[in-house]
Amino acid sequence: MNEYEEITELYDSIMRHKKAVITIPPFSSFVYSDKVRKPNVFYVSELPYCVTKIYFHLKYNMQVINNAVIYGRLCHQLLPNLAYECSCYNNAQFEVRVVYNYDKFIIHGYSDVVLKDSIDEWKFTDKSIINRDDNSDNNNNSNNNNNSNNGNNNRQINIINADSIIHKRNKITAYLMQANEYAYILNKPKYRVIHVYNNALNVYKGNTNDIWHNKLMNKIELIYNHFINDKIPDMPPEFKFECKNCPYLSICPNKINYNNNDDNQ
Ligand code: SF4
Repeated sequence: MNEYEEITELYDSIMRHKKAVITIPPFSSFVYSDKVRKPNVFYVSELPYCVTKIYFHLKYNMQVINNAVIYGRLCHQLLPNLAYECSCYNNAQFEVRVVYNYDKFIIHGYSDVVLKDSIDEWKFTDKSIINRDDNSDNNNNSNNNNNSNNGNNNRQINIINADSIIHKRNKITAYLMQANEYAYILNKPKYRVIHVYNNALNVYKGNTNDIWHNKLMNKIELIYNHFINDKIPDMPPEFKFECKNCPYLSICPNKINYNNNDDNQ
């Protein structure tokens, strides 16, 4: 089975199980057990984003739960089903707890899928696979290096070289940085970000690098130093889109105007 066939198998499997997303888990599933924040503890999933936002998270001991977070966590419950149906996941580990010690800091996270030489980070765009008409048009991503449509219910499998889109600085860049960090901590040379849409699967393949890891560690030190000095960082957001839905928009001195076109730049 080649890579395209393996990814097609993943797509078909996730679509077979999508109705299971509406199964309600115990409420505790939405709350981290270690939810009381310590200023030296950070989460991989937040590190690619705005340093001012993370600073406010620390200052106000916030754990932001919103529509996208709840939806994403529900969708991630589908992943273990794939172990039985997809050959590339037969020996996979799911939701692997990741801990990394750096100087006085502790970085936590959960890696979605850990394979022999790589990790997979799954991203479910809000409303991407449920609450959608199965015939709806979707996924106009134009970054495809390997775009194929098999003529079967308009399904698209797009395999994309992550290095080719790093310069774009959009949401995908943040996902790549997150996946790279899991792979770095777990000492895996490769990672993939698998972005699910109703009728498409975009797979971004990357080689693990220490440049992004070092960047995230520098951010941690900057945030921590500002926190202990009770000083708001004087930095713009990492990505233009972040301010749009930021819970700190009304109090933040670093907010910038957002243009919806920035999502696709
Ligand atoms: S409003 Fe923008 S700059 Fe300020 S914390 Fe939020 S994302 Fe960062």
